[in-house]
Amino acid sequence: MIIAGFAPNSCVDYPKNIAAVVFLPGCNFDCWYCHNRDLIEGRFTPIDEKEVLEKIEKRKRFLDGVVITGGEPLLSPLNDLKAFIGKIKDMGLLVKLDSNGTFPDKLAELLPLVDYVAMDIKAPISQYRIVTPMREGLEENIKKSIRLLMSSNIDYEFRTTFDPNLTKNDIKEIAEMITGAKAYSLQQINIPKGHEDKLTRSSEYLTECAEIASQYVPTKVRNI
Ligand code: SF4
Repeated sequence: MIIAGFAPNSCVDYPKNIAAVVFLPGCNFDCWYCHNRDLIEGRFTPIDEKEVLEKIEKRKRFLDGVVITGGEPLLSPLNDLKAFIGKIKDMGLLVKLDSNGTFPDKLAELLPLVDYVAMDIKAPISQYRIVTPMREGLEENIKKSIRLLMSSNIDYEFRTTFDPNLTKNDIKEIAEMITGAKAYSLQQINIPKGHEDKLTRSSEYLTECAEIASQYVPTKVRNI
């Protein structure tokens, strides 16, 4: 499996756990606020999978788990993902998977193998195009992934990076769509270079949105 990046130690990528983070290349989205452009546009030096596994093995007594993120990790071959996850589990570590939710069939195959999934919901389904160009059919895939997670026994969260174009009504629409889900988080955006003209929403606005969303799903605000 091609690995594009590795962080040996993170306290923020796996809720309540200390985790190593493995970055897989490529993405089928092109979010204007993406901070992983090098990863998704191929500007990285691949790291040998064996080397990554050895580093994790050496550090495992300091770790609770490993986060597999991207890019979009589910672009990687399914069998490679299964084998990699199996090797992490054999070390006695938890596995968290991050995904944009556009590969529900692969997600379904991996759900029995992982411990936690964080899935992005970028906007109300009909408004994804304010964040990223969309191919036909992806909306349905995202809805399918949401249903899969909500009907699973696994720990998961949905999360929205707060594009400043989003409004309270948009967050209400997302929260209504995931009514009864285990967890939802709103994350303040980090405006990337080249978009300095865009203003972020205030912390108060995000908190008010979280209060609205909390009527439908347990909601947290991050990064404010
Ligand atoms: S889904 Fe994530 S990795 Fe892909 S373009 Fe959007 S922000 Fe970047």
